Amino acid sequence: MNKKFNGKAIIFSAPSGAGKTTIVKEVLKTDIPLKFSISACSRSERYGEENGKDYHFLNVKEFKQKIDRNEFIEWEEVYKNNYYGTLKSEIDRIWKSENHVIFDVDVIGGLSLKKYFGENALSIFINPPSIEILFDRLNQRGTDNESSIKERMYKAKTELTYKNQFDMVIANDNLNFAVQKTIKIIKSFISFR
Ligand code: ADP
Ligand code: 5GP
Repeated sequence: MNKKFNGKAIIFSAPSGAGKTTIVKEVLKTDIPLKFSISACSRSERYGEENGKDYHFLNVKEFKQKIDRNEFIEWEEVYKNNYYGTLKSEIDRIWKSENHVIFDVDVIGGLSLKKYFGENALSIFINPPSIEILFDRLNQRGTDNESSIKERMYKAKTELTYKNQFDMVIANDNLNFAVQKTIKIIKSFISFR
C-alpha cells in the first residue's frame, strides 16, 4: 500500500539581493522532490522572466480581487504598489504531485508561512556577507533602477534584524558552500520528519 505523502514546506527569505533566487534555482536542479511555489505579484516582468514560471504577473486590480476572494495564504505590499502573495492553489497543486514545496518570499512573508505550516516547515534565512556587498549584488544584478535599489537597501536593514527568528541562517558568501549546505539541510529535514 502507498504511504500517504506528507508534504513539507521549505521557506527561503532574505533581503532582496542576498542570493535566495540563485540558491533556490540550484536546489531545484537536484533530485530532491521539490517544486517552486509560483507567487502572484504586481510588479512588471524583468528581462528573462516568464509569466506563470517565475511569477503570476497581475495588475494591482487583479491582485486585490484575489485578496478579496481569499486566494492567498499570505500577501504583502513588499514595496510601494508592488504586491506579492502565496496562492493557496500552488500548495494544493504541488502537494498533489507528491512534491515538497519551496518558497522564495520576503522576511515577513517567510515568518507568516512558518506560522501557517508549523512543524511541517523549515524556514531558511539567506544572510549576505554585509550590507555593502548586498548593495554591490543589487547593482551587479542590473535589474533595478537607482530608486528601487535605494528602497531595497532601506528595507534590508530592518529585514536583517529578523534573521534569528528563522530555523536556519545560511551565510551566502561563497555561493557553492551556501548551496551545498542548503541542500544538506533540506535533505535531512525531509528525511527525518
Ligand atoms: P535575491 O533573490 O535574494 O534577490 P539573487 O539570487 O537575485 O538575490 O542574487 C542577487 C545577485 O547576486 C545576482 O546577480 C546573483 O548572481 C548574485 N549572487 C548571488 N549569490 C552570490 C554569491 N555568493 N557571490 C556573488 N554573487 C552572488
Ligand atoms: P523580486 O521583486 O526581487 O522578485 O522580489 C521582491 C521580494 O518579494 C523578495 O524578497 C521576494 O522573496 C518577495 N516575494 C516574492 N514572492 C512573495 C510572496 O508570495 N509573498 C511575499 N510575502 N513575498 C514574496
